[in-house]
Amino acid sequence: MKKLQEVLRDWEAVIGLEVHTELTTLDTKMFCNCRLSHDDPPNTNVCPVCLGMPGALPVPNRKAIQSIVMAGLATNCQIMKHSMFYRKHYFYPDMAKNFQTTQGPVAFCMHGHLDLSVEGEGAAERPEWESTAGDGTPVERAADGSYTVPIRILRIHMEEDAAKMVHSGGTEGRITGASESFIDYNRCGTPLIELVTEPDLRTPEEARLFMEDLQQTFRTLGISDCSLESGSMRCDGNISLRRRGETRLGTKAEMKNINSFKSLHDALEYEICRQAEVLEEGGIIYQETRHWEPSHHRTVVMRVKETEDDYRLFPDPDLAPFDLTDDFINEARARIPELPHAKRDRYVRDFGLKPADARQLAGDPATAALFESAVALVKPGEKDAAKVQATVANVMVNLLPGHEGVSAEQVFSLARLLATDAITFAQAREVLEAVDGTDDDPERVVDERGMRQVSDTSALAPIVEEVLARCQDQVNQYHDGNKKVVGYLVGQCMKASKGKGNPKLFNQMLREALEA
Ligand code: ADP
Ligand code: MG
Ligand code: ZN
Repeated sequence: MKKLQEVLRDWEAVIGLEVHTELTTLDTKMFCNCRLSHDDPPNTNVCPVCLGMPGALPVPNRKAIQSIVMAGLATNCQIMKHSMFYRKHYFYPDMAKNFQTTQGPVAFCMHGHLDLSVEGEGAAERPEWESTAGDGTPVERAADGSYTVPIRILRIHMEEDAAKMVHSGGTEGRITGASESFIDYNRCGTPLIELVTEPDLRTPEEARLFMEDLQQTFRTLGISDCSLESGSMRCDGNISLRRRGETRLGTKAEMKNINSFKSLHDALEYEICRQAEVLEEGGIIYQETRHWEPSHHRTVVMRVKETEDDYRLFPDPDLAPFDLTDDFINEARARIPELPHAKRDRYVRDFGLKPADARQLAGDPATAALFESAVALVKPGEKDAAKVQATVANVMVNLLPGHEGVSAEQVFSLARLLATDAITFAQAREVLEAVDGTDDDPERVVDERGMRQVSDTSALAPIVEEVLARCQDQVNQYHDGNKKVVGYLVGQCMKASKGKGNPKLFNQMLREALEA
């Protein structure tokens, strides 16, 4: 198969995502009072409503509707005051009612967009000629190739999740070939929001970033834990190709079983290359659902698409249509905190962070809160205040991941030790390890372990002198033009100082002495 870059020279990839998110932070299910919980014993959180007993009547969850309105406002959607629930019929034991309650042509949220910023290596996936967004606006590129592109959102609708099924005795946990199947109705009736994009994404990297932005946004709203691994956030990738310049859409395939950002990227990349090969050999793409197999790095056919008519979609007579009031919508709006995009911009502006670092810190609410508390400990008038702020960010991005029990005070203290060259980065790693989960002050750990670097030039000068006198060969090499030999001399100074001298200062002092 050809490589992605080669394929995208001749073909345009058209990608649309359907993203399901369970509202995991709510207390109860969508249409009944059953507890929402993932770790209770199977079939303990059930009642006549979510088990689909005849005559049981659903009552919509007000907080779930508030959550979807927040999601819509955060993604620039129009909030539709008047909408209703529909029944989508199918036969499968994971939904005892034999229909899923969902929304019809009008969803609570319609026609939004997210502005996607693509930078770094991934920006190169979009070919230069691909210079308009799905909505027709031009895509401007910065000198380093980064760009921002609006991705339109068709709708976000409210629905309910089905029960969880476990198939045993067969291969790969699939129903085909299984000898026994188990059903846990605890998940049945979990409030679920489905977001559908317009087919505006053009590269696997854009799809990956869109999904990541959505996860960051929903987590910040506090409406879901958005875990791809545990399945509280799930994504189907729709993909088709068309010849460069063609305006009609090609036939799409839909990809399922994507449970990581990497899988989303790799499955789309594989599928683009597969479709190009089929089309270039004169074949046709079938509208089908395909299953991503990460271990084999390929997609395989799951089923050929059923048509919409099979679902017999009609308004649910048990649920009255909605008329959302302005008060209800305003209340939802008032609950929206500062969103990741705004946070990122503020971090770049106020603390001089690199966009990629700002993206990482602003994306997760707990991380953002820790960063902001730590950076607030830097006093504005303090010596090297800007440097300490930048170092706080550096510590958060590069050292902290993997450490759960570190406080804002500890991050700040560590950053100050680094910013004043009291310790090296490698030592900072060791200090962090030591203070994680305790309330020890990094300053104390550094003193206790005798780590503090000597950054006092009068203490370092005799060492520099001694080393220069001892290493005549290297000094001569330096004067013959081999400036790299300074590295060796710094090493000698470090050894002579038993590792406590500040290497940056040694470097500087050696150069000064050699050039004098
Ligand atoms: P279906 O009825 O098969 O579910 P939809 O029209 O509801 O298809 O679209 C589902 C998703 O697929 C949307 O995100 C949409 O943007 C995307 N999509 C639709 N047509 C195409 C296409 N030809 N190529 C790629 N993506 C598409
Ligand atoms: Mg659809
Ligand atoms: Zn119930």
